[in-house]
Amino acid sequence: MKPIQMVDLKGQYHAIKAEVDQAIENVLESSAFINGPEVKAFAEEMAAYTGSTKVIPCANGTDALQIAMMALGFKPGDEIIVPTFTYVATAEVIALLGLTPVFVDVCPKTFNIEVSQIQDKITERTVGIVPVHLFGQAANMEGVMEVANKHNLRVIEDNAQAIGARITKADGTVTQTGTVGDVGTTSFFPSKNLGCYGDGGAIQVQDEALAEECRVIANHGQRKKYYHSVIGCNSRLDSVQAAILRVKLRKLDEYSGARQQVAAKYDEALGGNSLVTIPARNPRSTHVFHQYTLKLDTSINRDEMKAFLGEHKVPSMVYYPVPLHMQEAFRQPEFTEGDFPVTEALCKQVLSLPVHTEMEEEQQAYIIEKVLEFLG
Ligand SMILES: *Cc1c(COP(=O)(O)O)cnc(C)c1O
Repeated sequence: MKPIQMVDLKGQYHAIKAEVDQAIENVLESSAFINGPEVKAFAEEMAAYTGSTKVIPCANGTDALQIAMMALGFKPGDEIIVPTFTYVATAEVIALLGLTPVFVDVCPKTFNIEVSQIQDKITERTVGIVPVHLFGQAANMEGVMEVANKHNLRVIEDNAQAIGARITKADGTVTQTGTVGDVGTTSFFPSKNLGCYGDGGAIQVQDEALAEECRVIANHGQRKKYYHSVIGCNSRLDSVQAAILRVKLRKLDEYSGARQQVAAKYDEALGGNSLVTIPARNPRSTHVFHQYTLKLDTSINRDEMKAFLGEHKVPSMVYYPVPLHMQEAFRQPEFTEGDFPVTEALCKQVLSLPVHTEMEEEQQAYIIEKVLEFLG
């Protein structure tokens, strides 16, 4: 049996090696390393795939969030509502821009922003909401949009973990994550569902004028070369990464399917065990399983379980051990333990198992065997 990894990037590369190597060689031969035709082609293909009006590639998913917030004109002192159970990048750029992150707890089932708690956090300074499609399935976007529309707030979907997930709207139409709010942002970090072989990110925009603003900001604020109309930044997806992403985008649905198959097997094996809760599904969203995350019963010692699995060469990870509002960098003195009970409990009880596109049956059977052995 091949060693088990959280993500098997090498195995996935080997399966598409000929195509990827050729794509890289083409870029090297063309020597159009920055903003070459591959970047433009990838942006168009990703827009078509996701149903976005425009896709603006950039250097990483954190930059994508920052550029989106700059393009939306958020000003220092403005308040942005974010879930406290997410990766740090979401709140980090808010703070970097001098905005104030206003944390909200998450839904105990889906682990996504608890829409019923947003309303109470809105003040006259609130300008936006950043729902995160955590672990690969959409937040309750209908709920988010309803509050946002009522209070005239802008919505940035942090789509770094859910590219390719589909949302079914109330009227039955199907759309993709990242296209419901004003802006969607995503990351092509190697281990993400659509990962490149370095850093990369993109912004999905529906409105042409806003897309143009993002493009200008990502390119030093210049509308015309050497004429800088706004303060921008330098954030580019390089051509080699774009060429790799063009190959992998064509396989994204297949990759999502492979992840869903792994998840279905875990569900089947662990769904009946009262000591673990398998991932709940938002009936309005497909789940592309960036992570397969169990919630352990309070009687289980997570550290012991993780150590036991590790001793048997089964990797597992805790996403995430500390709520954002309890992180040293973000700690707001008014918060004490118990203010965000769902997130606080999840940080103590979640454990993510390996899920990736190259999982072999034998490997997964072994993981399941070891998990069940620990649970007893
Ligand atoms: C990975 C990730 C990001 C940041 O992406 P980078 O490309 O690493 O900057 C932002 N938000 C979430 C939820 C993520 O998982």
